[in-house]
Amino acid sequence: MDKELLSIIHRCFRCGYCKFPSDYMDFNCPSYFSYRFETYSPGGRMWLIREWLNGDLDSSLRFQEILYSCATCANCINYCAFPEFRDLLLDVFRQAKEKLIDEGKVPPGVRDYLTNLYKFKNGFGISNKKRFQWAEDVEEYDINKHEYLLYVGDECCFDPVANEMAVSTIELLRRMNISFGLLKQGETSDGLEAYNLGETELFKQIAGKLVKNIKDSKVQKIIFISPHSYYCFKNLYPQFFDVNFELYHITHIILENLSEIQKDIKYNGKSIKITYHDPCYLGRYLKDFSTVRKILNFLPVEFVELPRNKMDSLCCGGGGGNFYTSLTQKNSETTAKQRLVEAAKIGVDRVVVSCPICLVFFKDAEKTLSLSPKVNVVDVVQFITEIA
Ligand code: SF4
Ligand code: SF4
Repeated sequence: MDKELLSIIHRCFRCGYCKFPSDYMDFNCPSYFSYRFETYSPGGRMWLIREWLNGDLDSSLRFQEILYSCATCANCINYCAFPEFRDLLLDVFRQAKEKLIDEGKVPPGVRDYLTNLYKFKNGFGISNKKRFQWAEDVEEYDINKHEYLLYVGDECCFDPVANEMAVSTIELLRRMNISFGLLKQGETSDGLEAYNLGETELFKQIAGKLVKNIKDSKVQKIIFISPHSYYCFKNLYPQFFDVNFELYHITHIILENLSEIQKDIKYNGKSIKITYHDPCYLGRYLKDFSTVRKILNFLPVEFVELPRNKMDSLCCGGGGGNFYTSLTQKNSETTAKQRLVEAAKIGVDRVVVSCPICLVFFKDAEKTLSLSPKVNVVDVVQFITEIA
């Protein structure tokens, strides 16, 4: 572990502020929310890692699962009481995972995900040649024909629920007359989850090849569906590669081009009451809280906020590789279910999301809860194509 990280690790004194939102209304760390053991909280992790580095704990499966159940939601780095080291909390957790990888001691779900990534260049263990089978009618990116590359990402290519987001995105981009293509031969996983899981070399290998493929196609502007990929290209790649792309989340393109669909918006006289769930990587990481709210305020809907919103948003539990390993989903109590319970309490018809991982986790939670009134989860792009 880096000397700087080693020098701060003993300074956490388990005050526990890091697991709450700003008003302390409930636990906001998804792994602690689900397991309710202090070791699953950010401060608990710090102490656990300290004991492990001191040689007082071994690398048991339980220890591994605790470390890998962090959803990298960034609540702790915003609410830790120590400004001097809070920005480094996730680096401590990541480097501990890096050390577990070096020891070859990781939970089976992590091992399988990384093996898939190595073999297939995606986390689903499906031949990457099948990546765009669902998009046969979409053109290959060509610098002479297209302004943007649409980077779709693993979840939207291979998960059936997230894939609906990608299909709606393509429909909406076409309706807004945006010229775009796909990197059908060259798109792979962005590698972010390998990085978050501590497999830095695999991250560099996958992401380096992806960056080369994009550069070889002379791409300048890229649109992302997943906030995770958008963050990865925006904040992580510049630390490793020489990159200078113009990057947009799909909601930025929609906001710029709302006038193109304005005439199509149907208002049937019945007001739809909606709320918005801020995804961690667009919200807490990149501080973009306004784009989706501006879009929703443009639509004929009644918009209300969830009690935990913006910086206090409650993570769905799917980040940090948990979408693939499900370590935050083992107990019956999960933040994804809690989020829908909170939405039902404010009486909304719809919870709008802007991230494929949130969509899939909330849709799963929807199936196991019988809420009254019923709350439907929908991606912002799907919602627009539904009413316009
Ligand atoms: S990043 Fe989120 S999930 Fe991970 S320890 Fe911090 S608050 Fe918990
Ligand atoms: S708020 Fe900071 S110092 Fe307090 S327990 Fe959490 S990580 Fe440790």
